Amino acid sequence: MLKKLVLFDIDGTLLTMSTINRSVLVDALKMVYGTAGTADTHNFAGKMDSNIIYEVLQSVGLDENCIADKFEKAKQTYIDMFRTHAKPSDVSLMAGIRELLDELSGRSELMLGLLTGNFEASGRHKLLLPEINHYFPFGAFADDGLSRNELPAVAVEKAYQLTGIKFINHDIIIIGDTEHDIACARVLNAKSIAVATGNYSTEELMQHNPHVLYENLSRTDVVLGEILRSSIN
Ligand SMILES: [Mg+2]
Repeated sequence: MLKKLVLFDIDGTLLTMSTINRSVLVDALKMVYGTAGTADTHNFAGKMDSNIIYEVLQSVGLDENCIADKFEKAKQTYIDMFRTHAKPSDVSLMAGIRELLDELSGRSELMLGLLTGNFEASGRHKLLLPEINHYFPFGAFADDGLSRNELPAVAVEKAYQLTGIKFINHDIIIIGDTEHDIACARVLNAKSIAVATGNYSTEELMQHNPHVLYENLSRTDVVLGEILRSSIN
């Protein structure tokens, strides 16, 4: 019987990408808008792909309406180019991820999903390259809301549509590598597991008070035990 919903971030948590993601976004924005703004230096971590496009272009003076007019074209151009150019060698799985996903997906009491700022099409491609996409029957993506904090409720609703179960509070576990993952767990009173495999150290993440904090997710038994535990302390 399903008891818990486990939602994973992608970048910095499950895997890390080469510079291909940034270079494709830069090229796509140049093609569509004539400029990539600050995309070559912007901090993408924990942010929604949609918001990143607005931020990098607004920072060089493009106005919101101008960005919005060509947004769908820019999004599709980026996705098409990413699918064409990103190869398996551009992806590195974080330590222990394949073992952890194997273990979690074999547990009948757990449902796995994604909660990510990626657009769905490019995010799914990132998971297909190292062959871990099949672990995630559903997810909440940048396409599903205007801010990351809207995504947990989207994920819970999608899980309900698939299972008939309304997951609440600490039966929802959100695993991610940035303060934004911790913050969006708080929105639903979900349990947050922060992991320092992205751009943020354990010291930096600790300041945002996740329920649990790991250097990495390589200790499968420890992470599994934490996910299955009913209390948060
Ligand atoms: Mg991340």
